[in-house]
Amino acid sequence: MKPTYSTSEGERFTTSQIERKMNYAKGILIDKQLQEHGYNFCTECERNDCKPLDCAHIISVKEAKETGRSELCWDINNMRIIGRVHHQKQDGLNLQFNDSNVNTRR
Ligand SMILES: [Zn+2]
Repeated sequence: MKPTYSTSEGERFTTSQIERKMNYAKGILIDKQLQEHGYNFCTECERNDCKPLDCAHIISVKEAKETGRSELCWDINNMRIIGRVHHQKQDGLNLQFNDSNVNTRR
C-alpha cells in the first residue's frame, strides 16, 4: 500500500495525488500573476529577467505532509514565484527536496 498524507480536514492523499493537485495549483498561480501584472516575474527580487522561474513553497511540501496539513502543498497562498537561483538557496537552507521545481517558461 502506498503511504498517504492527511490534510487538516482528515482527507488522505498519496504523493502522486498531491503532486497532481500541486501542479494544477502552480498553473493557477502563474496565470494569476500573468493576469494581474501582464507578465511573470520573480517575487523575491521583482525582476522579470530572473529566470528560470520556479514555484516555491513557503511551508515546504515535506513539512506540510509530515504535519498533516497536506492541503498546503496545493494552496496558492503557500506558494510564491521566485527565480531558481533563490529557490535553490532556500532549498539548500531548509534541506528540502526539489519536488516543488517547476519550470514556468512557456
Ligand atoms: Zn529573483
